[in-house]
Amino acid sequence: MWKRIALAVAVVIVLGLVVLAVSLRSDYQRQAETIYFNGNVLTMDDSLPRAQAVLVRDGRVISVGDSESILRQQTPDTVLVDLDGKTMMPGFIDAHSHVDISAFLHSMIDLSGFTHKRNSDVWATLKAAVPDYEKGEWIAGRGLDPILTADLRTPTRKKLDRIAPDNPLVILSQTLHNYWANSAALEAAGITDDTPDPSDASYYGRDKAGRLNGEIVEQAAFEPIKQAYLDATPKKDLLASFAETMRQYAANGNTTVVSAGLTSDQKVMFWLEQNLSAEQPILLGQLLNRVGLFPSREPFPRHYIYVRPEMTELLPDNPDNGDDSFRVLGVKLWYDGSPYVGSAYLSEPYKKSELTLEDMDLEPGHTGEPLISVPELTAAIEKYNAAGWQLIVHAQGDQALDDVARAFESAGRQLDLHPYRDRIEHGVLMRPKQLMRMWDLGVSPSFHINHLYYYGEALEDSILGRQRTDMALPVRSAGLAGIPYSLHADQPMFESKPFHLMYTAITRRSAQGSRYGSDESITVPEALRAMTIDAAWQIRAEDKLGSISPGKYADLVVLDRDPLRTPMPQFRDITVLRTIVNGNEVDLSGSADSPTASPAH
Ligand SMILES: [Zn+2]
Repeated sequence: MWKRIALAVAVVIVLGLVVLAVSLRSDYQRQAETIYFNGNVLTMDDSLPRAQAVLVRDGRVISVGDSESILRQQTPDTVLVDLDGKTMMPGFIDAHSHVDISAFLHSMIDLSGFTHKRNSDVWATLKAAVPDYEKGEWIAGRGLDPILTADLRTPTRKKLDRIAPDNPLVILSQTLHNYWANSAALEAAGITDDTPDPSDASYYGRDKAGRLNGEIVEQAAFEPIKQAYLDATPKKDLLASFAETMRQYAANGNTTVVSAGLTSDQKVMFWLEQNLSAEQPILLGQLLNRVGLFPSREPFPRHYIYVRPEMTELLPDNPDNGDDSFRVLGVKLWYDGSPYVGSAYLSEPYKKSELTLEDMDLEPGHTGEPLISVPELTAAIEKYNAAGWQLIVHAQGDQALDDVARAFESAGRQLDLHPYRDRIEHGVLMRPKQLMRMWDLGVSPSFHINHLYYYGEALEDSILGRQRTDMALPVRSAGLAGIPYSLHADQPMFESKPFHLMYTAITRRSAQGSRYGSDESITVPEALRAMTIDAAWQIRAEDKLGSISPGKYADLVVLDRDPLRTPMPQFRDITVLRTIVNGNEVDLSGSADSPTASPAH
């Protein structure tokens, strides 16, 4: 299917290039010079932490101050926006997310443990959704989660055949390590009882007679199903869901989103992401938009990208690529996996429990293992940093973090790593000593703090035990050592909600109310820095983003409450009322023609 698109693209380019070159479609209108006044402005700029008004012109903050002095700078054309005492802040930076997977999952049926506490609820939701699909149409569900849906029974092929006898049906687990398919889906993907398993780690589940039971483990085995599903999904729907996904990030207050490793190596997906966020539309994007394949451009969050090492064909020639709205920053590497499937690499074994021994199928004494060797990681750090690229390294277990620290230290003997600001992703069982070792080389962490909120009890009771759960995610230790850090939700694992992340880092409370390692709690101002100016530092953009300061981009949010004056239980319910990227109001309503800032005279 993508080949056909590529062919269509080529034809359209040839036919359309000349015409379009002289009549380039004008981009979305940049908002006029605007003064936001009468607000409670938290600038995150130490030289003027609080203000009332902000003057924005050409996408930049021009001046910040009290309402009176800023309003004096208005011209007859200036749009005035009365903030009515509401709080304005710099927009949030989501330092680690997955835009393409989020878009891919966007239209699937939600079967997750966030919304389904009982096994029977999961299957009731799925059964109720099936009649909405036409015969033969693909049905996909997402988020199956044996931890949050405690009595979950994973489905068999037979069960899925009964639920959807006339449709290909595929279900994705919350961790995206396991999948389940019915007979029609397996058939559509060309998978039979005779299909060989891609590897010992990625395979098709089978019964004793060797017949497919519908379970699919890991990405390589899932690939044919994914392809069949994508080929059958109307491209327009899939591509439009990218725009919807970006709008959702903005509605949560994110003005910059960082993709931590693209999942698709399809150039057309990359072009789409580029076209949605880049300062100017790309020519190809305009062409594809004309033929109805690409959604139209609107103001959307900035999008920065790390590519996977096996997809370095997506790496531009130069780290100085793109523009400040869309850029490839470097490469994402994985050193270990996830604590919920036993692939986080620990120094001491996983706790023995029903969850680890039966549901996760781990041997007693299991510690996980690294995905690559220390010399391989060292070589990769040297290679990409020497070429000017930044590296971010997924590492969750304490043994993984020890190894990763060693690799950085080896690489640091060959090359001064400080300019690259390489990063550790998630850092669940990071020890303060490991933090310091890496910070000596300029390497800082981005913490996956929601582990505590959603899986605190599972980590405590079944996976790590109390002591290790208390020590997990040492956010305050990083702050005390003067290390900049960010917080992330790893969407689609958890929705990218800044106030929710900050709430968890501040309280270290789980959804059920348990509190883990209260000495690692941070303050509200520290949490706000992690989501703004310090995250900007990590993506080497602190001179342009992360605070409301003259000369920086006008990336702003307006909130219904002041985070510095909101009591903790309500903190995570603080609502984003408007999101402004590069001086442009993002349409959070989802309709293309809703009004932007109305002049208030
Ligand atoms: Zn991730």
